[in-house]
Amino acid sequence: MAEVILPGATIGVLGSGQLGRMFAIAARRMGYRVRTLSPDYDTPTGQIADREIQASYDDLDAVRDFASSVDVVTFEFENVPARTTAAAAERTHVYPRGEVLHITQHRLREKTFLQSAGFPVAPFAAVHSAAELQEAISRIGCPAVLKTSGWGYDGKGQVKITDPAQAAEAWASLGTGEGVLEAFISFEREVSVVAARGKDGEFADYGVIENQHHRHILDISIAPADVSPEVALEARRIARAVLEQLDVVGVLCVEFFLTSDGKLLINELAPRPHNSGHLTFDACVTSQFEQQLRAICGLPLGSTELLRPAAMANLLGDLWEGGEPDWAAACALPEVKLHLYGKLQARPGRKMGHLTALASTREEAVQRVITAREALIRR
Ligand code: AMP
Repeated sequence: MAEVILPGATIGVLGSGQLGRMFAIAARRMGYRVRTLSPDYDTPTGQIADREIQASYDDLDAVRDFASSVDVVTFEFENVPARTTAAAAERTHVYPRGEVLHITQHRLREKTFLQSAGFPVAPFAAVHSAAELQEAISRIGCPAVLKTSGWGYDGKGQVKITDPAQAAEAWASLGTGEGVLEAFISFEREVSVVAARGKDGEFADYGVIENQHHRHILDISIAPADVSPEVALEARRIARAVLEQLDVVGVLCVEFFLTSDGKLLINELAPRPHNSGHLTFDACVTSQFEQQLRAICGLPLGSTELLRPAAMANLLGDLWEGGEPDWAAACALPEVKLHLYGKLQARPGRKMGHLTALASTREEAVQRVITAREALIRR
């Protein structure tokens, strides 16, 4: 039996956004203390944590001091540099281990890992110049999507190429020295599997969640997904194999494209709780955040049972355009839960909060969450 970190102990979180906030809520509910380190102050995580340390991820002495002051370190922000997690690991346990972060924070490393381990991914090629891009387009074909290798999320650093003549312009617009060209997948739907693995290899997943994006940003998630039992089984099998191959301790989300002929392709991995799993907070016996806590502390994993069909709608900063949204109107709706992240400034595209709706059917849950979000807008 691996070492168990019991309630009363202190968990260190690298990063300070909404994922850390919801993790800290789950941890404090179970009697743990939480410290967060990030370059920012008065952050979504810091507002909930016992202590908020403001330091650059490159200040490795501060990171070492932070790690020495906690019993285990995890992260909520996947672009934490590898040297930062390595410095933390000199002083305490870091879960998931830094190598998982290193692979998944870089698109090319991640795709190369997935392909070489035999997981299904869209055809892709590494590109380092306009000439290489041209050559990759002739191999992969059009349409295709050019993405940056690092620091990409929510569709940032992506350009769709519909004609080979766009290669030079697309390469220039990327503005980095390395990119990945991917075949454009005309998927039927996007789905994800949020899963957790314990220190002793125990595994649990939340089934298949369906995701709808708007302008490359997750908009609505629905559980359970409308997929066949065969597809659901296969997605869960792949997710389990990914967590095992990477020897993950913690939560990891596998995002998939589902093609019209029922084929699953992995789009991306997120080595942490994921936006599509936010609905587990209200709809499952154990939320993805509590599951992360249990996994990194060496506690048994909790039940992932979905208590009711559920839908989640993200609240982006755009909603603030006409003034403060009408929170009371959304709260007036039955079985709708409001989550706000305590961010001080609303900006278009910025994730400020989300709504979860529960219902008897998934369709009803979607309808409810959309109605609730519309009710927020003052007219
Ligand atoms: P990403 O940041 O790579 O997860 O991309 C964000 C969203 O862009 C995805 O969830 C898809 O909706 C879309 N997208 C990304 N890559 C592709 C692709 N190869 N084919 C079709 N759509 C894509």
